[in-house]
Amino acid sequence: TLDRMFDLTVQNNGKKEAIVDLTKNKRLTYEEWQVEVNQLANALRSAGVEKGDRVSTLLFNSYELGTTLFACAQLGAIFNPINFRLQPQEVEYILADAEPKVVMFETALEPIIASLYSKFTNISFWCINEQTPGFAVNYHERVQQASSERINVEMTEDDDYAIMYTSGTTGRPKGVVHAHRNMMEQSIACIAHLGVSPKERGLVTAPMFHCAELHCNFIPRVHAGCTNIILHHFEPKKVLASIEQEKVTSVFAAPTMWNMLIQEDVSAYQIESLQFGTYGAAPMAPALVTACRETLGIDLIQAYGMTEMGPAITFLAKDEQVDKAGSAGRAAFNHDIRVVRPVEDGRAEPEDVMPPGEVGEIIVRGPSMMREYYKRPDATSEVLYKGWYYSGDLGYMDEEHYLYVADRVRDMVISGGENIYPREVEDVLHAHAGILDVAVLGEPDEVWGESVVAVVVKKDSALTEEALDTYCKESNALANYKRPRRYVFVEELPRNASGKIQKFLLREQFKQESASS
Ligand code: AMP
Ligand code: MG
Repeated sequence: TLDRMFDLTVQNNGKKEAIVDLTKNKRLTYEEWQVEVNQLANALRSAGVEKGDRVSTLLFNSYELGTTLFACAQLGAIFNPINFRLQPQEVEYILADAEPKVVMFETALEPIIASLYSKFTNISFWCINEQTPGFAVNYHERVQQASSERINVEMTEDDDYAIMYTSGTTGRPKGVVHAHRNMMEQSIACIAHLGVSPKERGLVTAPMFHCAELHCNFIPRVHAGCTNIILHHFEPKKVLASIEQEKVTSVFAAPTMWNMLIQEDVSAYQIESLQFGTYGAAPMAPALVTACRETLGIDLIQAYGMTEMGPAITFLAKDEQVDKAGSAGRAAFNHDIRVVRPVEDGRAEPEDVMPPGEVGEIIVRGPSMMREYYKRPDATSEVLYKGWYYSGDLGYMDEEHYLYVADRVRDMVISGGENIYPREVEDVLHAHAGILDVAVLGEPDEVWGESVVAVVVKKDSALTEEALDTYCKESNALANYKRPRRYVFVEELPRNASGKIQKFLLREQFKQESASS
């Protein structure tokens, strides 16, 4: 279990720096951190949290997020980190689904909680900052008053560790449930493939609520007894300054973030300590990988995967970036990946494998696979079949078993590493009286990789782009990154014989437009 792993790390690295929280200027050795984890576990138990109960966080990056994670592991409680970019309605949906006993939040995110707390009288809200609103409990007060004695709860590796929500194709977020064993297997794969060494000082700057940062970087570093240096959120100049100040050796960032980093005046910072970087969450252009090598003087490692798988399932090593440019790499050593024949409105058998070079759906099995979608047996059986996870990504393998991710079966858009399911945005727009029909899709975007565009058939001819944008903002139903950046008005949408909108036709059209502009 993660709890046992934490014990062993503390035992072997007690005096070593575990955490540097740059926002709070807080430094903790592993022994000191363990005291706070124990105290928080006791404080949570006093608040009624027991094995199997959920504890949610709505936090920017902070050591309290990590402390909550390990305190939950000690209690056998289930950790539920929530995306802080979501709108109140989206957070409300998740809280209603996950039914946590406690929600940790920070003052900066109080507006979201303030609009919700009265609807959840069974939840205790804990604020990690000094300025705690009247409806909430102060995290640090509770911790200071609590015993630092370790709590021992009977647990096995098959007990659940966390629920992480990912947007669903149907527009409703689904809770991905991972057991302790799944997380430990993911951690070992990342330690091996990223070459995490005990000397590592890793910078945490991508959001910790997302498993790319949390599961591939933060937890493996704890597992290997290294130091996590935590930045509240991503800010290119701060990242570079922190690398210099803290002698950071590795950073994970989504492609958009790497692109922003190299736009800075990198030569103004001393970043020689940096040994490697990792990227993932969205495709990264080989040219950008090269630009990072030239500007920052480091090689990058790619990880590809999805929340359901823990997430990483393939890795492309530093020395493969040139020869295998464009590939996502090969299967992590504890994973098995296949490309199977795509079937329209159905599912290929796992044995129906495509020959090298031919595109099909990527399926995968391995010990870091989720157990299920929380309370969603139908959604679970849609993606888990005969022991395989059907990813919804399209791709092909070359003769040497390197995977190339080509496209997505489902119409997901990835903007700045965040997934957006068009259906969710379409549902909001469909509710507008002036809209007859709408299709939402991604179009190429230099900064974000993709951005959201809405193709609209008007009912009300006076409808404008500004009016729709205001409508989306005021709906409070769409996180900022999901809001369409552009509206295109058309007479009708292309549909196939069965009435499905042919998004690939629209997508092609936008690709050509952006190539010619
Ligand atoms: P999430 O569950 O948020 O981690 O999103 C998973 C999806 O992000 C995958 O199904 C892919 O479509 C996409 N993705 C993640 N990593 C990569 C990568 N390295 N290259 C291309 N697409 C990626
Ligand atoms: Mg993603």
